Amino acid sequence: MADLKESFSKGLTAINVKTSTFLEAKKIQTYISTLNSEIEALQKEIGRRAYEDWEKNGSISLSNIGEQLMEISKKKETIAQQKIAAEELEKKEQQILGTADNQKPSKIFCPNCGQSYDGPVKFCRKCGTKLQ
Ligand SMILES: [Zn+2]
Repeated sequence: MADLKESFSKGLTAINVKTSTFLEAKKIQTYISTLNSEIEALQKEIGRRAYEDWEKNGSISLSNIGEQLMEISKKKETIAQQKIAAEELEKKEQQILGTADNQKPSKIFCPNCGQSYDGPVKFCRKCGTKLQ
């Protein structure tokens, strides 16, 4: 009974970790897409200002768009940081839950005929070689 209780609570922990990671990852995704649309708005603003400048003065002065350019590079930096945070989140989840590979039972191969089995098998069903 204790084992069942333990594995049940382990299952709950896994669900909690997955849910919180999912929500956190979702938050990061939303933040990144907000930043991306802000960058797009800034790019439009830069284009508009540059065009007005060119129309008025026949040239484009960086001082008119410098602020927007700086803001874009700041936002791009933030996006890069958020992407790193998302990767770390994924790594952390894998550390807690164990990777999918660790959870899978390892395959057994028959040394005689090469037939593969997913679970523990005593004898090869194909050629009858003792496997355990
Ligand atoms: Zn075999």
